[in-house]
Amino acid sequence: MSDQFDLEHIWHPYTSMLHPLPTFKVKRAYGVTIELEDGRQLIDGMSSWWCAIHGYHHPELDLAVTRQLDHMAHIMFGGLTHEPAIELGKLLLKITPPSLDKIFYADSGSVAVEVAMKMAVQYWSSKAGSSKVESDTTLKQKTNFITTRSGYHGDTWNAMSVCDPVTGMHQIFGNSLSQRIFVSEPQSRFDGEWNPHELDEVEQILKLHHHELAAFIIEPIVQGAGGMRFYHPEYLKQLRKLCDQYQLLLIFDEIATGFGRTGKLFAWEHAQVEPDIMCIGKGLTGGYMTLSATLTTRQVAETISAGEAGVFMHGPTFMANPLACAVALRSTQLLLEQDWQDNIQRISEQLQQLQILSELEYVADVRILGAIGVVELKFNVDMKTLQQQFVERGIWVRPFGKLVYVMPPYVISKDELNFLLQQLIQVVQHMQAEVQHGIA
Ligand SMILES: *Cc1c(COP(=O)(O)O)cnc(C)c1O
Repeated sequence: MSDQFDLEHIWHPYTSMLHPLPTFKVKRAYGVTIELEDGRQLIDGMSSWWCAIHGYHHPELDLAVTRQLDHMAHIMFGGLTHEPAIELGKLLLKITPPSLDKIFYADSGSVAVEVAMKMAVQYWSSKAGSSKVESDTTLKQKTNFITTRSGYHGDTWNAMSVCDPVTGMHQIFGNSLSQRIFVSEPQSRFDGEWNPHELDEVEQILKLHHHELAAFIIEPIVQGAGGMRFYHPEYLKQLRKLCDQYQLLLIFDEIATGFGRTGKLFAWEHAQVEPDIMCIGKGLTGGYMTLSATLTTRQVAETISAGEAGVFMHGPTFMANPLACAVALRSTQLLLEQDWQDNIQRISEQLQQLQILSELEYVADVRILGAIGVVELKFNVDMKTLQQQFVERGIWVRPFGKLVYVMPPYVISKDELNFLLQQLIQVVQHMQAEVQHGIA
């Protein structure tokens, strides 16, 4: 099945070169269909990891790319600018929190997080440097970060340092990885009862450590790759208060949650709490190419710029790549032109079919938010076997750890989604038979 060269020479995400997992060779993709080289067609349940919100080979998005090709594929952003970056920027400022005013384009989600963290450190350093008040010089010590467990923020060095220390396997990297402060993950469920003592631990830690902390970084409402957990909006309200009280910037990582996935355009809207810095990526280009952005307030940007360096110290080679900006602009317009909220609602209602799995003895939890459906098992799944079974049934679902989950492209039809869910449900139910057999 797997291509021999691929198997021997090409690394895939989180895989071994000694025991690589099988891969399926894709010939093409269109709509919500992934067509394999052997002609098999799979209904996509993953949107290529939150990205392909409008499905594949979308005529409008193809056109945006080819049109832009006639002008330029790329041009350096130092000293030059272009229409796609400007028009995309105007649109992004309209749909992100009102207090965000400055945009930094970067090339992937992880880099957007690196940029956000650098902004936070440079902010406090600039504030200390420009202050005439002597006690303010201690602000220079605000260089570390606090975050929750079960988070995921990317795989580059600093992004990785704020991922969950266990699932992020921090022990492999020892002292080479900066030590961050971790608090328990949010406990009150999104639709559950709010526990007023939830942030007691955060407050205690901030009391002790605020003088060394630049920012609190968190994925609002949905913790994605760190466990697919949905938590209570009140958490963000309380967190905002504590960050203000103890002088920390608040960074929202909306790389997974952005562009409608949770039922709101961005997840901060569930709580109506605005961050000081926000990262977006993944769905930004509709899955066409890699692009991310870090947005911040005028106050943060101007403080950084008034500092010793006088500039913000970052500038990727492919910053604001015109092809990526052009397709991001069209993808975002496309989303806003439709009744996307109704559509996500429709998908959400259909995802409720997964609830039938909560009856199974070894299913720990089934949860649905927006166009995300999660089945959490009581044990780690055998990814290789499960993946194979899904493909045999004509669907593309990639489980990890204890989680079998779907977040389909928004263009999925009612029938396609029914098929996806019914096949998934049967595979998980079948798995139960195997488990019981194993126990017997
Ligand atoms: C995927 C993801 C990232 C990293 O984005 P890449 O483009 O893979 O670097 C960061 N934060 C969150 C919340 C993500 O889901």
